[in-house]
Amino acid sequence: MSYPACPKCQENYTYSDGHLYVCPMCFHEWTDESQKAAEEALIIRDSNGNELVDGDDVTVIRDLKLGKDTLKQGTRVRNIRLLSEPVDGHDIEARVDSFGSIYLKSSVVKK
Ligand SMILES: [Zn+2]
Repeated sequence: MSYPACPKCQENYTYSDGHLYVCPMCFHEWTDESQKAAEEALIIRDSNGNELVDGDDVTVIRDLKLGKDTLKQGTRVRNIRLLSEPVDGHDIEARVDSFGSIYLKSSVVKK
């Protein structure tokens, strides 16, 4: 059985002490519940609450201003890439014909 890496120092020496995970490197202790909450927080969801993954195709649910141009509502965006570190609140990167590489917010797309 493998244990999750320490959420505090990212070291991989976690062991389990009853219902607690313990990191011997920084002495951080955490529980299954906080571990689940942390993993849940990393999940990126679309406007309907569906989980998004790399390579998904999504539809833009409203007109989006991109510089001088507008990405129209209903535009199909293929093969999205999720950003683990959002850029300016945008957690999706994708290529769209005639726009090139763009950033999107998961709150304005749906699967
Ligand atoms: Zn640690």
